[in-house]
Parts: sequence; C-alpha cells; structure tokens
Amino acid sequence: MMTDTPLLQVKNLKKHFPIHGGLLGLVTAHVYAVDGISFDIRRGETLSLVGESGCGKSTVGKAILRLYPITDGEVRLDGERIDNMSPSKLRPMRRRVQVVFQDPFSSLNPRMKVRDILAEPLINFGLVSGKKDIDEKVEALMDKVRLPRDSIRRYPHEFSGGQRQRIGIARALAPGSDLIICDEAVSALDVSVKAQIINLLVDLQDELGLALLFISHDLATVEHLTHRVAVMYLGKIVELADRRTLFSSSHHPYTRALLSAVPVPDPLAKRDRIVLTGDVPSPINPPSGCRFHTRCPFAFDRCKTEEPQLRSVGDGHQSACHLDHVPGGQVVPMAA
Ligand code: SF4
Repeated sequence: MMTDTPLLQVKNLKKHFPIHGGLLGLVTAHVYAVDGISFDIRRGETLSLVGESGCGKSTVGKAILRLYPITDGEVRLDGERIDNMSPSKLRPMRRRVQVVFQDPFSSLNPRMKVRDILAEPLINFGLVSGKKDIDEKVEALMDKVRLPRDSIRRYPHEFSGGQRQRIGIARALAPGSDLIICDEAVSALDVSVKAQIINLLVDLQDELGLALLFISHDLATVEHLTHRVAVMYLGKIVELADRRTLFSSSHHPYTRALLSAVPVPDPLAKRDRIVLTGDVPSPINPPSGCRFHTRCPFAFDRCKTEEPQLRSVGDGHQSACHLDHVPGGQVVPMAA
C-alpha cells in the first residue's frame, strides 16, 4: 500500500433516512442527514467534524462504522472500499476502526468487570491466547489510559465519569485500532476532566500514531487537539481548513458565528459576537440554494437559488460561500 494514501477517504457520502407514512407505510419523505460530503484523514492526524446538534456529524461517524448502510458515496480505509464490503471481509477492517461514545456509562456493560470489558474485543478479534495473556494485555491497556491495574476487578459504576471514559478509550485501543471515532467523547465531562481526556488522546496519538475523527458541537473543545477542522451545517461541509487557518482567518459566515461564541482567555481581547437568529432548518426540507441563507447575516439574492460549492479559498482551505471576502468578522486568538 502506498504510504501517501490517506488512512480514511470519504467521498460524496450521503445518508438519507426514509420517512414512512400513510396506511400503506410508503416512503413519503427523506431526512437528508448527510448530503454529499468528502474528506480524508491521514495516519496520525486528527480531523474534527464540528457543527450544531442535528447537522449530521454523528451520522457520518456511524456511517463510517457501518452502523448504517449509506445511501450513496464511498468510504475507503487504506484505499479499499469498506462501505460495500461483505461482513466476512469487513471483520479485519472493523478491528482497525473503533469508537468512543459520549456517555461511557451507557456504552459500558454495567454487569461486566473492567477486565472483562477490555478482554472482550481482544477475544473477539482473536488477539489473545489464554488467561495470562488476556490479563497482561488488559493491564497494559490500563497503563496506556493511566488507570491503576488493580482496578480491573471493579465495575463501571465504581469509577468517575472521566475514569469511565478512559475505560472506553482503552476498549477502543484494545484491538490495535488505527482510527478512533470520538463521538462527542468529552462533551459530558466537566472542564478539568475534559482537558485531562483531551491530553490523554493527544499523548496516545503521539505514542501510537493513531488517527482521530473527533466529532463535537463545540469548536472550543477541538482547538487544542485538532490538526484540521471540517464545519458541517445541515448535512454539508461548509468549511474545511487546518486548525490555525480556521481559528485565525475563517471564511464562512457560519464558522465565524460559531467562533464568535468561543470563550477568549484574554478578557481585554475584543470580539464581536455574531448571534444567529432562528433554529437550524429541518433536514427533511432543507432551504434552496445555500442552506445557511435563512440565518446568514450576509445573504443576498443569489444565495436563495444557487447552492455554493466547496471551493479553495487558500492553501488547503475550502469554503462553500458565494462571497470572496466575508465582510467584518472577528479575530479569535489562536491557542499556543
Ligand atoms: Fe451566506 Fe450567501 Fe455565503 Fe450562504 S452563500 S454563507 S447565504 S453569503
């Protein structure tokens, strides 16, 4: 396999959920949850997928994991299509892509001890030979996520929220994964614990060369761990850039509005808050033209009829907006 092939390639991915109605239960409409998005992730890279609740970002994660069949498009791992792969061929691929969900309490079986939770993927993927080997590998996983080895005989409810999330990360690491999808993985944690988990993920990435797809509704959360950011709105990617570019010179009005809500460490730093009016429109009947036009402070006639395509606005920087230069905007201090 050529080394310049991205680890994950997503091309024109669509996921439309049918809505059934009437006496015959026929399809009467669709939820256009994900409507033609493309991105890739390289080994050792973190790409964050950011947007408001309902924009489709979690559906992207679940489609990559094949928890949903996709409507159209392609998902490739190491250049090989996995979206249409047979279950038997998919099995070794599944080992390489794992997930950490938002709520570790509901995703960890409360009746299983941590040792058994971590042993399960090792056994399922045939990565262990005997009890001693299991115990050694489980203990090594506990070391990796900085939890005491002697706590493997405890149940999930005996751990704090942050510790449970560490167990979730250990379980995702267990099969020797290359890519971990973190779906709002730190959203339920308080600020200091959130920072600890983010630091742990950064350390693990350095140590193991992991790729991360970090799904979050909050730009502030991703600022300290991401390499690139893709901003989603109503099933589409509206801006894609490296972290520095996105946080210092974003182009799309929606990204600017999200950034304007990010807290600034310096209380003297000036920043104009862009308050978006109205709710995100329904993905069942998205607005014509630019999907953001019903809330965009810069919308003009063309925006209502012509859909802007994602286009290059700088080196590795893409934006889906008809404007060349978005007026005004704010400067958000970069993280060190
Ligand atoms: Fe706003 Fe128009 Fe740009 Fe859409 S295309 S973000 S409505 S200015």
